[in-house]
Amino acid sequence: MSYRGRFAPSPTGPLHAGSLVAALASWLDARAHGGEWLVRIEDVDGPRCPPGMDEVILGQLDALGLRPDEPPVWQSRRGELYQAALDRLIASGHAYGCACTRAEIAAAAGPKPRHGELIYPGTCRDGTHGRPVRAWRFRVAGRINWQDRRLGAQSQDLETEVGDFILKRADGLWAYQLAVVADDAEQGVTDIVRGEDLADNTPRQIALQRALGFPTPRYLHTPLVLAVDGHKLSKQNGAAAIDLADPAGRLRDAASRLGLRLPDGMNSAEEVLTGSVSKWEALVRESAGERSS
Ligand code: GLU
Repeated sequence: MSYRGRFAPSPTGPLHAGSLVAALASWLDARAHGGEWLVRIEDVDGPRCPPGMDEVILGQLDALGLRPDEPPVWQSRRGELYQAALDRLIASGHAYGCACTRAEIAAAAGPKPRHGELIYPGTCRDGTHGRPVRAWRFRVAGRINWQDRRLGAQSQDLETEVGDFILKRADGLWAYQLAVVADDAEQGVTDIVRGEDLADNTPRQIALQRALGFPTPRYLHTPLVLAVDGHKLSKQNGAAAIDLADPAGRLRDAASRLGLRLPDGMNSAEEVLTGSVSKWEALVRESAGERSS
């Protein structure tokens, strides 16, 4: 079976120790399956992406020897694809226009906020009653059960835990959920390997795939790298950019976060990558063995 994987960084800051783990894992999994590996720059949220950061990330990946099999794509240039997906969701009744302001949602929202986000109370589900449409939302229904290659069986009730989520924002920007689903389908991605912080988004993406008639890829969410204070290492909390003076050392660190124990004496990035691929292949064989026994 053909395999297509991808690494999809948001260029809000340079690659750091945490995002390198996701980049390396997605690259290793593609190599171990004899597949293709793509890079997609997720710059839909333009105001949060400093100019030139995309090139910084592409340069970091190149210096680490993580080279995509096809030219990278930029989400900021793919608005037509997202509009076509939204149009189909509107036509099928899965998406609806929403006239509510943040203040109105806050005033009407019932249950507790989740990760600081209010659960939309469904005010515009049956129409905006003459008020102008500001944003577009997805009409959620029920529970999504799914399987993660590392985390196992997962489940989320979209209606009570998430609510009708945004597809296109009031400021005209595309929401990550819609863009990522449209892109993965259009690019023929079969396997998604990314950080565990995104596992919670997966049920929304599966719901969108089903509504659009797209296949659901396999998922593997990798362990997060925590800062000394226990918080997730992120660009937002100022995680340091990868030090490219020693690419082999940084790759070794990322490989060990993934549980790969490499022998000593691998001094070049190429050696570390080759050694990591054989270790990853062994892990893939092991888990395939477990599944069939
Ligand atoms: N762009 C997202 C991020 O950098 C990752 C999206 C994905 O891998 O699905 O957090």
